[in-house]
Amino acid sequence: MKSMALKNGLLCCKRRNNHVNSYALKVASLCFKAPVTRDVSLLKSQNIMNVSKLSITVISLILLSILLSGCSVIRSSIGMMRSTDHFIAHRKDHRVLYEPGAKIFADRIVAILPQSIRQIENRQYRHFVEPVKVYVCASKESFYKLYGVKCKAGVSNKLLLSPRVMNEPENIYLYLTHELSHLHLYQQLGLLGFRDLPSWFKEGLATLVSDGGGAQTVSENEAIESIVNGKHFIPVSGGFFGCFNQKSSADKTLSHHMRYRQYMIFVSFIKNKDEKEFKRFLLSIQAGVNFSKSIQESYHTTLDQLWQDFIKNIH
Ligand SMILES: [Zn+2]
Repeated sequence: MKSMALKNGLLCCKRRNNHVNSYALKVASLCFKAPVTRDVSLLKSQNIMNVSKLSITVISLILLSILLSGCSVIRSSIGMMRSTDHFIAHRKDHRVLYEPGAKIFADRIVAILPQSIRQIENRQYRHFVEPVKVYVCASKESFYKLYGVKCKAGVSNKLLLSPRVMNEPENIYLYLTHELSHLHLYQQLGLLGFRDLPSWFKEGLATLVSDGGGAQTVSENEAIESIVNGKHFIPVSGGFFGCFNQKSSADKTLSHHMRYRQYMIFVSFIKNKDEKEFKRFLLSIQAGVNFSKSIQESYHTTLDQLWQDFIKNIH
């Protein structure tokens, strides 16, 4: 249907152009005594110029949208190339590396790291496939330089913590465990595979397995109420290495913690539907199988259908 409509559209355009051209020729031949063939070539070259102007505009718009959507991607890529050679391996646990001045912060991480790793390995059903390394930054500026986004913690090509986490001592464990969930997937999928996953899934999983890390200020009840009132994210299936189709526009209308809590509730719903299937699904994702295919092969349904079931269940 679409291609027919497209064909018809093109035909109409061609017919319209022919009509316009013949009308223009008539007008030209009435107004001027100059040979008509010259005007035909002029019209043709004008058409070509218009088409190329249109192409340039379309290409510019596409490039602009890539740049806008990829600003944080570019900053993050620059951050990834920066050296972390000045980080010092902690004497008690070499997996924790810290910048000069961040020793006290690093001590806190050393104390909780083993338990946090165990929690992720249990809940994501696999051991870490590479040694874990946690980079503890001494200032929010150095964190931003390395990570490319102003926030408290993150995983680019390494797990980085900003000292802003220290302002919430009661949440340090939640933040660390949330980021370890990302690192666990990143180690198995690589940068592009990890970026390819939809945000709602990555963040929902990390929030779930860390017992709420990243959504502390919004309760489950508040998130459910918001979903019931129609203020909720829309699950997309990811792709395009994180440049597009990772988040719906509806997601952007929600606050950070509301969004993460909603993501978590949906991932939790999928898990509670059937934990065996959830394990199969998560291991399939970790093996690098496409997101939609992993759902289909584990739950024998689609993401859309799971979402419809979730909405029905929540009302
Ligand atoms: Zn996260």
